Formats: sequence, structure tokens, C-alpha cells
Amino acid sequence: MEKQILTNLEEIIDRIKKAAVKCKRDPAEIRLLLATKTVPANRIKVALEAGQTVIGENKVQEIKEKYADLKAIPHTNHFIGHLQTNKIKDILKYDISCIQSLDRLDLAVKLHQRLLFEKKTMEVLIQVNTSMEESKFGVSPDKAIDLVQEVAQFETLQIKGLMTIGLFSAETEKVRQCFRILKQVQEQIKALKLPNVEMKELSMGMSGDLEIAIEEGATIVRVGTAIFGQRIYPDSYYWNENS
Ligand SMILES: *Cc1c(COP(=O)(O)O)cnc(C)c1O
Repeated sequence: MEKQILTNLEEIIDRIKKAAVKCKRDPAEIRLLLATKTVPANRIKVALEAGQTVIGENKVQEIKEKYADLKAIPHTNHFIGHLQTNKIKDILKYDISCIQSLDRLDLAVKLHQRLLFEKKTMEVLIQVNTSMEESKFGVSPDKAIDLVQEVAQFETLQIKGLMTIGLFSAETEKVRQCFRILKQVQEQIKALKLPNVEMKELSMGMSGDLEIAIEEGATIVRVGTAIFGQRIYPDSYYWNENS
């Protein structure tokens, strides 16, 4: 089991490298984030001990459950799931360095208030719903710029870029279109040269579509299944409002 994770990991690193080379990008520009929802701490440890440095969880409860077990191994925690405002206080206890899923103003307002109170700052990515599926979170592409401008006013929140979940489809051109939209939104925001807004990160691409995302400019790919194996819960459990 442990060996399988290492083999998978090597394969993913190789896929990232090949995809980068194919589009003449430096593979070092692309960070691998381990999407660790449902994966127990001992399996995550295997990947961290093999040299991986960034993990992303979708639920505050899971961060909490694995926190003590993973604490001793140096790594960075991102949050990639839907964040409810009543979990803000909780999430700030677990050394999260980036919330990739900031998708609405009321969440930003409350995060800012709490961060001010705790005298902390937080890196954030704005999550954009590029597939326009109702089942997915994220601000719509046409409202993303407004949201970035509003969030930029909060000095505790450091905007580093954008995140999206591409369409699940075997039609690669439709998937690619999602990533292109994210890139376009990034370019539009960059052109505005907003204070307190850095647009360097594009977090896009997962187990099935990371090559396309890299071709379209991803700087962070988030991979779960292809490293840790199939999950027992369907993704809708993590991605839908009612979960
Ligand atoms: C689960 C998840 C991933 C990883 O998906 P895989 O297909 O398992 O690689 C990436 N991003 C988010 C937001 C996720 O919830």
C-alpha cells in the first residue's frame, strides 16, 4: 500500500514534468498539492516523507482529525473545500497558509474580522466556477473581478491568484475551456494592477486533467485519486452546498 503511493507519486511528478516540457514551461513553476480528503494521516505521511510539501483538505473536521499526526512533518496546509462562515474560528487553529476557496464577499468579511481580532493574515485564492455547473462552488467568471476588488480592501487577506475545478468531461476541449476562462480572468485582473492583489497563482488541474491545466498555465495542480486511490465518498459529498 505504502509502495503504491510512492509509485503513484512518481508517476504524477513525471506527468507534470512531461506536460510542462511539452508546452515549454519550466516544471519548477508547477507545484503539486496533495488533495487528501478521506485519506488517513498515515497514508498522507508516506507522501510527505517522500518529499511532498503541500496538502489540501476540504473539510475543517478532517484537518482537525489529522492535525496532531501530521504536525511533526514539515509541510504547508491549504484549504480547498467549501468554507462555511461558522467554521472560520475553527480553521484558524490549524496553521492553514492559504484558503483556495474564497468565493463570496460575506466569507471574506467574516474572515477579515476574525483575522483582525487574532492579529493574523491569510493568503487566499479566489475560486471561480468556470464550468458554470450549479453543483460547484465559486464566483461566476463575470463577477470575479468585482469580488477581487472588494476582497483587496481587506488588509488581512492577501490575494495570490485564482482557483477552479474544471468540468468533469471526457471532452477535453470543454475541460480546456474552463482553464482558459480562469487564465482570461487572471489576465483581466492583472491588467488592473490592483493594490494588495497578486495574480501569480492559477490552481487548476486534478488527477484526470492536469496536463490540460498545465498547458493552460496552472501553477498549482491538486491531485488526490491518482496518488492515494479511489475515495469511498462521491465528490458531490464535498462539493455540494448541502454536505
Ligand atoms: C478532491 C479534489 C481534488 C483532487 O481530485 P482528484 O480527482 O482526486 O485528483 C482537487 N481539488 C479539489 C477542490 C478537490 O475537492
